[in-house]
Amino acid sequence: MTTLAPLGATPQPGSTTKKSFGKAADGQPVDLYVLTNKSGTEASITNFGGALVSLKVPDRSGKLADVVLGYDNVDGYVKGTSYFGALVGRYGNRIGHAQFVLDGKTYTLAKNNGENCLHGGVKGFNKALWTAKTLSTKDGQSLELSYFSKDGEEGFPGNLTVNVIYTLTDANALKIEYSATTDKKTVVNLTNHAYFNLAGQGSGDILGHLLMIPAEQFTPVDAGLIPTGEFRDVMDTPFDFRKPTAIGARIDQADGQLKLGGGYDHNFVLRMTMDRVETLAARVVEPTSGRVMEVWTTEPGMQFYTGNFLDGKALGKGGLSYPRRSAFCLETQHFPDSPNQPKFPSVVLNPGDRYHTITTYKFSVEK
Ligand code: BGC
Repeated sequence: MTTLAPLGATPQPGSTTKKSFGKAADGQPVDLYVLTNKSGTEASITNFGGALVSLKVPDRSGKLADVVLGYDNVDGYVKGTSYFGALVGRYGNRIGHAQFVLDGKTYTLAKNNGENCLHGGVKGFNKALWTAKTLSTKDGQSLELSYFSKDGEEGFPGNLTVNVIYTLTDANALKIEYSATTDKKTVVNLTNHAYFNLAGQGSGDILGHLLMIPAEQFTPVDAGLIPTGEFRDVMDTPFDFRKPTAIGARIDQADGQLKLGGGYDHNFVLRMTMDRVETLAARVVEPTSGRVMEVWTTEPGMQFYTGNFLDGKALGKGGLSYPRRSAFCLETQHFPDSPNQPKFPSVVLNPGDRYHTITTYKFSVEK
């Protein structure tokens, strides 16, 4: 059963606690919801940007560490430019030249990344205050977040009603279920932008993590990190993670695509259609702690980003700094720039249809 404890209460295993997380720029109070399960794993989520603020999971000796980057209070999220743990929308990743054509009409979006629109524009869903509701589900503690994105927001057509449910299960999985409906034809691509370091946030670089991605192809990019439209085989490239490989093993190789990204910042092709059933998209092992994370998703793509733009300047939780490549992201989603790429799976949402995707991060340990 979900119990909502009063402000300032200490979280109990298998419960949800609500605390103050500060005030948004307009003075509105912001909350932090702490979800715990029976094994003591804890996920904290704020209704500001729907961000996953911390995620404490055990290592092989049972010791908990917080494995995601974030800030101690809402101010960091208000000012932050890195999307730590945030819910990203209306369109995750880039839309080239910040425009697209739908039914013959050109839509011009907010430009916030050179000529392009990144992660929904200047004020994406990561900067919005979501409505939160705790839920009691058969799977564990859940937090339901809702947001209404108005027709024309950041240039996107259609009033979009968005609903995201985070669930922390007793099996140490964090499940994220995204839904959306619209009243006008639009494009939608929602994801979570958690930055992981399975050795613990702020504990150094992630180059020694072993990564497996079962994808056979990725989508190469141009200098603005917009896909060229090509599907390239990973075979014989530094993008081949079909067998577990250290993230840092090839990251600085003389490879044109790695140079453009300053490391990995690329979409991997998991499949070309949406699926009702989640399949394995990645498995990551951190050898010193033994922590293992698997990513399962219904989405066709996944952006693998190695925190190449982190510069250590903004201080994170506990005053720790986050230098370049001190975390990695595995953002399950549709492919970047899909609205302009006829060969990519469609991101169009029609009135009467329901956008629905699921991604689960499953944690375990290896001896
Ligand atoms: C993008 C990166 C970007 C990062 C933070 C990732 O999804 O692919 O290029 O720097 O998000 O915005």
